[in-house]
Order: sequence, then structure tokens, then C-alpha cells
Amino acid sequence: MSDYDYDLFVIGAGSGGTRASRVAAAHGARVAVAEEYRVGGTCVIRGCVPKKLLVYGAHFAEDLRDARHFGWDVPPDCAFSWPRLRDNVLKEVDRINQAYTTTLESNGAEIIHQRATVSGPNEVTLADGTTKTAKTILIAVGAHPAVPECPGHEHGITSNEAFHLDAVPQRVLIAGAGYIANEFAGIFHQLGAHVILMNRSKEILRGYDLQIRDRLLQISMMKGLEFRFDATFQGIEKLDDGCLKVSMANHEPAVVDMVMFATGRKPNTHGLGLDTAGVELDDMGAVKVDADNRSTCPSIYAIGDVTNRIQLTPIAIREGQAFADNLFGGKSTMVDYDCVPSAVFSHPPIAGVGMTEAEARQKLGSVKIYSSDFRPMKNVLAGRDERALYKMVCDGETDRVVGIHMIGPDVPEIIQSAAVAVKAGLTKAQFDATVALHPTMAEELVLLK
Ligand code: NDP
Repeated sequence: MSDYDYDLFVIGAGSGGTRASRVAAAHGARVAVAEEYRVGGTCVIRGCVPKKLLVYGAHFAEDLRDARHFGWDVPPDCAFSWPRLRDNVLKEVDRINQAYTTTLESNGAEIIHQRATVSGPNEVTLADGTTKTAKTILIAVGAHPAVPECPGHEHGITSNEAFHLDAVPQRVLIAGAGYIANEFAGIFHQLGAHVILMNRSKEILRGYDLQIRDRLLQISMMKGLEFRFDATFQGIEKLDDGCLKVSMANHEPAVVDMVMFATGRKPNTHGLGLDTAGVELDDMGAVKVDADNRSTCPSIYAIGDVTNRIQLTPIAIREGQAFADNLFGGKSTMVDYDCVPSAVFSHPPIAGVGMTEAEARQKLGSVKIYSSDFRPMKNVLAGRDERALYKMVCDGETDRVVGIHMIGPDVPEIIQSAAVAVKAGLTKAQFDATVALHPTMAEELVLLK
């Protein structure tokens, strides 16, 4: 029996912290996990899960319009209730929150519903002033929305608040053009708002394949979303009627009902006491860790968004699993960050895995591109002028598929399977040797020219 209160003290019960806690406890470790808000973290409480449910809800706007072409009599004044969608989504969040809590408890991890801060290499202090000791401390506190400094920024909301709105505003300005901005732009637009997306740079979704994001931009503009590029905030002023006047460089001011910041996320390390244990942070405030998730303090580890490696839930979960297996399960596993698939649940969604065309050209020199630019049959019958684009990036020397990038209905569902093939290092010829499954959209992947 060690002299410490616990073998492992985890700060933060999000996706990564929960996985690490329950796996370590299942390996026999004495585990406590502190959570100041709700078990489940960003993904479950105010991220991936409620967002995806809103995306489903918003998509019905299009589906109901399309349904008429498929023979359904949908009344023109088909009513939508935001409070009903919002409350059902929040109820589902409660259910998953409870499921996470039960999983932790049934594996023997003790949940402490308080904020905890580090007060030494092996000590944490809880909000009520008590201290606890642990042989190992795991920092899994995630990140929070970063809001750019500008006069009046307090009038804006972030995605955290978007799930609790009283009503869908008529005019929404979203700052940023990354994941969250494009996903919420689609949601609010489908639910009837006029959406302005403003970004400091000239582009959307930096990091995704250029042709794919250009297609999203083109479709979004066709649907009526307004884009303002090279636009940095000068200020937000609340007018007498409650509207917000947003001033920005290079553009006329915009008057809207709501401003939402989607300008990146910052690690939650401020005030966490990490300096008391010599834990070093990088310029972004992220915990610096080695390949084993160990910080510059040997007894303190960190996983997930707080390390600012790849800010995705499945990565945090893998890091939590590897951490617990290595320290408490006698295994030696490392997270493989190569070929991580990702998707943006915009309308339509985009998805990708592996190198973009630009990355491949830079890294490999000789590159072959295959693509299919087509109108999905459902869109044709619905009279919807929205084309899908699938793109395969291959090593020109070896024929190996090094990247797949897609935009169109259901592409996040399709890319997951395609990612297995890309990760396995299959060649274009091996894709072509697979018989198409007709009629699907995914069959385009084995018919690319
Ligand atoms: P992103 O990094 O995706 O996008 C940030 C956007 O804000 C960019 O357009 C960027 O401009 C702009 N920006 C950044 N800093 C500033 C600033 N100081 N002032 C003005 N504009 C700025 O961040 P998100 O907030 O959308 O999402 C955070 C992370 O959460 C993502 O990186 C992703 O890892 C994760 N996420 C994943 C989802 C998914 O898997 N579907 C969904 C939602 C979030 P530019 O880059 O053009 O210069």
C-alpha cells in the first residue's frame, strides 16, 4: 500500500479523463477524478454530441423541402419549434452524462464534484480547501473557446451558450471560419437565420483540401450564407433596440441579433497551479508532454485538448487509454497520430484523411490525383443543384493512396471505412479491384478516374 491517498488523481472528467480513470481503475489502481462542471466534458456536454443532434435537427429543413419531390405533401408552413429541439437535445446530454458517471463508478473510480488544482508534484487542492495526494496526477482539463480582444466582445456568445438559446436569432454573425463556425453556420441557416461568416484571413477551414473547401464555400454562398474575408473585429456595439452593430476592417458594419465567436480553443491551464510542480507550458498555454504523455514534472501527465496536439475526442480517448494501459496495465502502447480521419458537419459535410493535394505535392513531389465530381441521385430527383466532390491523392511513384478528401451527403460516414484502407497503405489499383456497390455514392471511391 503506498503512502498516497490515490494511485492516480485525474483532473477533468471529459472524454480523455473518463477513459483514463475507468481503465486505470479496471487495472486495479485507486483512482479519483475531479470534475468542476459535468462528467462528459466538452464532447458530451457542449460539443460533438449536442452539435451533431442539432445538425440532424437542422437537416430536416432540407429534407422536408426535398420530400415534396419524392411524393410527400409537406405543408408550406411546416412549423419548427426550437425549444422542443433544444430541450430534447439537452435531455439526451443528461442521459449520456449519467451513463458516463455510472461507467466511472461501476469501475471503482471515485468522482469528486469540485474544481481541483495542482499544489505540488503529488498533491492537489480541492475547491473546499482539502488536499489529496496521489502517486500520479493526470491533467485532462480540455480547452475553452478563445475570444479575440475587441471593444464589446462581451456582447458575443461562444458555442458553449449556443445550445441554450431562447430562440434562433434572425441574423447571426459568426466570427471564424473553422470547424465550429461552418457547422453552426449550417445549423442556423437551415433553421431560418441569415448568417454572416467573417474571418480574419481569406479562407475557410485552413488545413482541409483546397478544392473541397472551395466547393463548400461555393455551395454555402449559393444557399445564401454571406462571407466576409480579411475582416478583423474593430468593435461590437449594443444598440438601443438590442441589436448588435459589428464594425470590422475592410467591410461595412453589420447589424445582427447575435454574434458568435468560433475563433479557436485555448487549453484550460490558467490558474491550475501547474507552476507549483514545474510543469512547463508552451506559448499557447498547452501542457508540454513527451510521447508517453508525461509532462516536465515526472509524476504529472496530460492528455487531450489541454496538450493541444490534435483537438479531437477520439484522440483524447486514445491518449487516455494508452496512458492508463502503460502506467497501470503493464503494456507499452503509443498513440499513432498518422492518418487521423476528420470531418466538418457542415451542410453538406466534408471529410478527409491523410495528405491534402498541397501537402502531398510538397512532401512527395510526384503525385497523381483522381476525382469524381457528381450530383448525387437523391439531389437530382430533389432538384437540388448541389454537387459532391471526391478526391483521391496518390503517390505518383508507388500508386499508394496517401489521402482521400470528400464533400457531399454522408461523407463522414464514408470516410471512416476509407480511412482503414488509407492507413493500411493500399494502392489505387487495390481500390479499383474492389467491385462497386451500386447504387451508392461511396461506389465512386472505386471508380475514380
Ligand atoms: P478552428 O481552429 O477550426 O478555426 C478557428 C478560426 O478562427 C479560423 O478561421 C481562424 O482563422 C480564426 N481565428 C483564430 N484565431 C483568431 C483570432 N485571434 N481572431 C480572429 N479570428 C481567429 O477552431 P474552432 O473554434 O472552429 O474549433 C476548435 C477546435 O475544436 C478545432 O480545431 C477542432 O479540432 C475541434 N472541433 C472539431 C469538430 C469536429 O471534429 N467536427 C467540431 C468542432 C470543433 P484562420 O485560420 O483562417 O486564420
